[in-house]
Order: sequence, then structure tokens, then C-alpha cells
Amino acid sequence: MRRQPELTEVTEFTTEPKLVEDARREQACSTSIAIFSARLPLCPAPFLRGEPRPLRTLVFVSGSDSMQHILLPANNASTWTGPTGNNTWLLPGRTPTLIDAGVGNPEHIEAIAQALDGRPLALVLITHGHSDHVNGVPAIAARWPDVQIRRFGSGDHPLEDREVIAAGDGTLTTLHTPGHAPDHCCFLDGGECFCGDLVRLGGTIVIPATRGGDLSQYLSSLQRVRDLRPVRLLPGHGPVIDNPAKVIDAYVRHRAEREAEIIRALEAGFETPEGIASSIYRGLPPALVPAAVDSVLAHLIKLKVDRKARQDGDRWTLN
Ligand SMILES: [Zn+2]
Repeated sequence: MRRQPELTEVTEFTTEPKLVEDARREQACSTSIAIFSARLPLCPAPFLRGEPRPLRTLVFVSGSDSMQHILLPANNASTWTGPTGNNTWLLPGRTPTLIDAGVGNPEHIEAIAQALDGRPLALVLITHGHSDHVNGVPAIAARWPDVQIRRFGSGDHPLEDREVIAAGDGTLTTLHTPGHAPDHCCFLDGGECFCGDLVRLGGTIVIPATRGGDLSQYLSSLQRVRDLRPVRLLPGHGPVIDNPAKVIDAYVRHRAEREAEIIRALEAGFETPEGIASSIYRGLPPALVPAAVDSVLAHLIKLKVDRKARQDGDRWTLN
């Protein structure tokens, strides 16, 4: 019977060796353990109220059926990327592989080097071409000149859907999962799925209609991943997701509720994406308003595809 992989995160204000040792003892048995320290950036408002967190120690334990993986935060916390910034995932082993490149923050690059312990990074797999996932490529290539960078739809050796790739001490299967971005991919390692920006806890995923986002494709991609019954999702932002089906179902419900709200706004006479957004997203930080408008547009386009709405320039009405 498949053994469920375990993953434990210990968050503390110190790299106190005893804490690490205690965690190691508690998690002992037939598991592999990776330990590293990461200096977190000072989190900007509105996420951080109170003391900055100078250091945290993370302990990850992988079960025997999944490859060892190490979370290396990209040190780019912001309103957009969340209080801990982007997650990048290192699979050490025969083919040291990093999933997503971060933004080239020097401490992130150093953390990758420390985790590799002198071995060169062989491969970077990009979940999608948004800047917070891909901008670190030049800094990584400068540090490890022989590293291969692979993403869907671009580069010398573009990723293909269902392609099986040697990574870490095993293989990953590529899943093309467009919707959030046209080139979005997830990478499957047995029951674990490195899911990029498909899903995140503590926030929703933006579907930017004016930048290649497609809500109909996004919903299909969610269903595709759900059907594979992953045990765990390892996202590009936020904590690990231990109950993928439940979270994906909540996402689908959220989208259906949002669609119903947009239909009600159209019925109430709001005609433009801006007007609809202001009627349903109240109290949104100004920096996030354009994304909300873009998200409404994604819903309107889906309603048009579903023949429930029609478009006349910037004005939308129900059929
Ligand atoms: Zn993204």
C-alpha cells in the first residue's frame, strides 16, 4: 500500500540547533530529512503587524514514495506575492532541480547554493512565465552556467504536456494547466503535485483576462488536477495544501458564486468590467483593483463563451 508522504514545517524565530534536533527525533523513522535556514524579508504591511521575523527554521520530511523536496522562499514578499513571497522547490539528488526561479534575490540564490552543498544546479522547471516565477533565471544561470531552464512554449527545449522529466532522484510528469497563464504547468511526483499558481491557500488565483488568463481553461485545469487525486499540492505561494480535492472544490464553488454575483451586477445595470468590479469587490486595496477588473473580464468572457452574455465594445449585457 502506498505510504502517505509526510511533510512537517517548523516555524520558529531562531535556528536554534536543539529545535532542529528535536524535530529530527520526532520525525525519525524511514524518512529522509532536509534542513535549511532561510532569512525571510521583512514583510510589508498589511501582512506584518508586530515584530519582524528575522529567521525561521524549516524542517521538511518526505515519505519514501515521494522525492525529497526543499522549500526555498524567494524572498520577495509583497502585496502580490503574499507574506512569505514565492515558494521555490528544490529536488536534490542525481538531477538537482529547482521548480520556479524566484526573482534573483541574492539570499535566495545563496540558499539554493547552501542546499545543494557544492553540487551544481542541473535544471530549473518554470511553472509559468509571470515575473515572480521567472525573473530569477538570469541570476541562476549566472551562478550555475550549465543549468538547463525549461518552460512551456518557449526556450530551446520547451516542455510538453505529459512529458516525463528526470528530476531529483526520480521523475516528474509535466501537466499543461492553462488558465491563470497560457503556459502554466504543474509537475507531478507520484501523489504530490507542484502546482505553481493553480491554487493557493489564503487567497484566490487571479485570472488576468488581458494577459492570457482564461477562466474556462482554468476550470478545466482544476478538474484535470483534481481527477489525478494528488495527495498534496505544493504551491508557488503560501502553505502546502494537504487536502487538494476539498480546496479545489472550494475554488470551483468560489468561481460559480463569483459568476452569480457578476450576473446579478449585470442585471442591476452595471455594464463595464470596472463598474461590475467596484460593485462586487468592496474595500479592495487600490493596487489590486486592476487585477479585480481583469478577473471580472475573465468571467464576462466565460459568460460570452457560454452564450449567457454579449459584448458591445466595453459594454456587456446578459442574453
Ligand atoms: Zn502567476
